[in-house]
Amino acid sequence: MAHAPEPKCPVRPGDSCSLCYPGATGPQDCGLVWLVREDPELSAELTRLKAELSA
Ligand code: SF4
Repeated sequence: MAHAPEPKCPVRPGDSCSLCYPGATGPQDCGLVWLVREDPELSAELTRLKAELSA
């Protein structure tokens, strides 16, 4: 397999995935990412944070 790019953590903008969530093998099956995406308030907060970081 070709050299895989380091996955970024979707819930910690700017950071790479450090597999901090128990059982996660990457952002694609991270329970915390799932939780944030499912929660309207948390996903709004994340959107705000990303906008702030890219400003
Ligand atoms: S395990 Fe999940 S919360 Fe932890 S760094 Fe990776 S994507 Fe982010």
